[in-house]
Amino acid sequence: MNGSRRLSRWLRLACLCGLSTGACAIEPLEVRQIAQGVYVHTGLLEEPSVANRGDVSNLGFVVGASCVAVIDSGETFAIGRALRAAIARVTTLPICYVINSHMHPDHVFGNAAFAADAPRFIGHARLAAAFAARGEHYRHALERDLGAEADGSIVVPPTQEVASETSIDLGGRTLQLHAWPPSHTDNDLTVVDEQTGTWWLADLLFVEHVPTLDGSLRGWLATLAALRAMPLPRHVVPGHGPVDAPWPQSLDAERRYLGLLATEVRAAIVARRSMQQAVDTVGQSERASWRLFDQFHRRNVTAAYAELEWED
Ligand SMILES: [Zn+2]
Repeated sequence: MNGSRRLSRWLRLACLCGLSTGACAIEPLEVRQIAQGVYVHTGLLEEPSVANRGDVSNLGFVVGASCVAVIDSGETFAIGRALRAAIARVTTLPICYVINSHMHPDHVFGNAAFAADAPRFIGHARLAAAFAARGEHYRHALERDLGAEADGSIVVPPTQEVASETSIDLGGRTLQLHAWPPSHTDNDLTVVDEQTGTWWLADLLFVEHVPTLDGSLRGWLATLAALRAMPLPRHVVPGHGPVDAPWPQSLDAERRYLGLLATEVRAAIVARRSMQQAVDTVGQSERASWRLFDQFHRRNVTAAYAELEWED
């Protein structure tokens, strides 16, 4: 099914608000069960827009014997509600956790759709500070980019923080949460479902979509090396791009891009080239390998230059 048809299916509110009952049915988000009890929605490889209504990131949920954990809630309140409706089709169990993988809007602005479930909202120990610093800016940008589609999308800060590692129990099913040093952002949190060997890497792994750097290039490369050294996963959910892409090839493609970024930016700095000169030249050999390269790559070079300019 193509993107626009899929969007129109789940976003079309089969909604007769104001008519006889006032009831308002919401078209569930399309999700796929990738392992027993693990459901994923795959977002489009696009920037958020009115046309795609912000459906640009992967999100989903894991069902235990006693309750459900949501992992990322989407770009808008409307997407969060559609995800909530998708969960209701699968199970009537309560939602006990909403896990935010990191601060970026496309992963967190659906949180408010789960408020009535009174879950614990879980994030990295630095997530609350990131929301405090950027939340208002993110909300204004969302309203600017999506208009009315952004209605109801607010920042919901974490009520449980993860400083290093913790586990949560869904009833006969344990999720391991790991807080990483600065990588994609300074508040990246990953989720491992031990029962199915599913790694929910979120934006630590971009597949097909060019990686976007908003944390630390050196840190991200170290994190990817650590992931590479771990026992093989059975399923991998990236933040953007297809689920279960070949492993470790998908990881290695990202390491190649970020490694080249570091190497070429360092060379530009040594050669005393300006940031603008670096932006114009670094990493161009990767251009054909990634979607959305033109939208994000120059920002990555800028961020890498700012980080590496003062390294020892
Ligand atoms: Zn992100």
